[in-house]
Amino acid sequence: MINCRRCQQEKAAQAIGLGPSCLKEVVTEEIISQAHFSRQKYGLPSSPPRNKPGLLCSYCANECQLGEGQVGFCGLRINRSGRINSLAPEKYFAASFYYDPLPTNCCAAWFCPGSKERGVNLAVFFYGCNFDCLFCQNATHRLIRITSFLSLEELVKAALVPQVRCVCFFGGSPEPQLPLAIEASQEITRQAKRKIRICWEWNGGGHPTLVQKAAEISLETGGTVKFDLKAWSPAIGRVLCGVSLDRSFENLSRLGRLFPQADFLTATTLLVPFYIDEGEVESIARFLASINPDFPYSLLIFHPDDRLRDLPITPKQQVQACYEAARRYLRRVNVGNLHLLERIL
Ligand code: SF4
Ligand code: SF4
Ligand code: SF4
Ligand SMILES: [Zn+2]
Repeated sequence: MINCRRCQQEKAAQAIGLGPSCLKEVVTEEIISQAHFSRQKYGLPSSPPRNKPGLLCSYCANECQLGEGQVGFCGLRINRSGRINSLAPEKYFAASFYYDPLPTNCCAAWFCPGSKERGVNLAVFFYGCNFDCLFCQNATHRLIRITSFLSLEELVKAALVPQVRCVCFFGGSPEPQLPLAIEASQEITRQAKRKIRICWEWNGGGHPTLVQKAAEISLETGGTVKFDLKAWSPAIGRVLCGVSLDRSFENLSRLGRLFPQADFLTATTLLVPFYIDEGEVESIARFLASINPDFPYSLLIFHPDDRLRDLPITPKQQVQACYEAARRYLRRVNVGNLHLLERIL
């Protein structure tokens, strides 16, 4: 942790160099690109490619334009011989899975009826992500080039094991592999002889049509859809995540109008020390309350990880202030990772 290079007053992460107030005033494309430059060591571009003329990928809001042989921001989609394909072979995912006994520590478990069932969750970890959060707590998703691939058939078979009650797609984030994940979900639902809940934990920046299709499957199967809302201020969001967060808010707002059912949609925000303060949380909570004042919202306590290892666990005062800010708008606010606070009390 350093003093902000501009004002010398506020605290800043070394990877960013500026504190939150200065960032909001002076953020530039260069500052954003520099903060994400280190991902090049994984063969990943530091910003979404805009190669004109190139082929457009519209699976997510980044809308990468890819020249021949070029990979997208997610590292998963590639222009090969004039067609955009996944790095994985056809009908294969860059993904792995494991069984997690219920109740799991999944982000919706604090209210989800599925977590009270007996059995297991099939957790499907997707490699690759359309965001590049500096604080990523699942950073192994970037190891796309050394992962083994998982076929659609293997995934469906794994879900049809008798103990499985729900399937959670997370990662990384599902957006860059969403069409195939939707196909697998439909196949699971078609072949299952009992209800298997299908859930998504994502940043929510996917193509609106794909996002809606995936959400419909969750609604039909009694699952949940969780949006990870990283920040409210565009400048903070761009620097922390490398790309615009606008689509996540647009998609959630749209799903909220289409599917007003209780306890179907949910959201989380990681309380990154200093950057995601009560002002950020208050604005997100106000947005969620405009969808539904009973919207379930979970604040997650940060622990040092990835490129923000120099920041501390979220200070208790920040957790308290953020919780109170969220509660001014929402009736149901949860705080996750509370055990981390015990380490600093
Ligand atoms: S999925 Fe998103 S990040 Fe990946 S290539 Fe397509 S537009 Fe780019
Ligand atoms: S049903 Fe979905 S939200 Fe509930 S425990 Fe299973 S994976 Fe988590
Ligand atoms: S959206 Fe999630 S998986 Fe993707 S970079 Fe951000 S924290 Fe990591
Ligand atoms: Zn400053």
